[in-house]
Amino acid sequence: MYAETNKDIYLEDIAKSYNPNSESHNLALPGSGHPLYKSLKTCGKMAIRGECKKGHCYLKVLKCKKEWCEICGKEKSEAHQGIYAKFLSRLKKVDQAGYLVITFPEEMRENLRNKVELGKIMIKVKRSLKGAGYGLGLQRWHWSGDRDKKKWLPHLNIILGGEGRLEKSELERLKSRLRALLGLPLKGNIHYSYKTGPAALCHLARYVTRPTWGGLWDWEEELAIDLHGFRKNRWWGNWSKMSDVWDLTGDGKIGALVELAKGQCPDCGGAILWVPGVQRLPLALPITHLGGGFYRIEICQKI
Ligand SMILES: [Zn+2]
Ligand SMILES: [Zn+2]
Repeated sequence: MYAETNKDIYLEDIAKSYNPNSESHNLALPGSGHPLYKSLKTCGKMAIRGECKKGHCYLKVLKCKKEWCEICGKEKSEAHQGIYAKFLSRLKKVDQAGYLVITFPEEMRENLRNKVELGKIMIKVKRSLKGAGYGLGLQRWHWSGDRDKKKWLPHLNIILGGEGRLEKSELERLKSRLRALLGLPLKGNIHYSYKTGPAALCHLARYVTRPTWGGLWDWEEELAIDLHGFRKNRWWGNWSKMSDVWDLTGDGKIGALVELAKGQCPDCGGAILWVPGVQRLPLALPITHLGGGFYRIEICQKI
């Protein structure tokens, strides 16, 4: 994200922003030199500036987006809104979607404590579903259970664009295909439902993209370090070539966020060019919060 020439400035900023007294995580731990801690420390303290050809200006606050961050790990946080907007920018292109959840029996969960295994499952599932004709997919891992937020309960969420009610035989085929692929027991572990219409799709996107690390931080630090840099959100299919079939009328804020998440100016639809280099916050400029860590700079000037 940072241009090479600005790297030193960026590192200097990190050094300046370090204040041991404000530290919430235990830096005495052996892994404290890990990049994970750097991103937690600088979260929300810097921004990049973007501009469209017509001169509309935006600021994007750089968030670590780590679920184990005290800021980003909260539901409705800017990080949550940002990924929600990204999912919505795709789901706007379908009027219904299938929703698969794959859970893993206890004896398999220990094996999933590393990003290589988690990534392999995502790739296998994507290939298999694509091969079976499900052309549009979104995937995201959830780490803990809905009820027990302190328990390691990894489950894979998959949204299948355009799918709705499946015939019983098709659903059985789909389930046995996935069970065979992942070595799951013959019963349970795969749940399918579907959502129709904008409200249900928005709700699904918000639910699937919510942070689920929750209370795991305290006792799963090693796992957090291992998962650093892991892409837990992935998609397949030609979403970008499709046009929107519904809009977020009545929710201007999230509408603007969806545009910005796609790299488009919410005012004129033009492409936004993000200028290399980071700005330290706060800035002495009139800005309006658009949500998701994006701000509109009201009087655009070089900063
Ligand atoms: Zn953060
Ligand atoms: Zn514009």
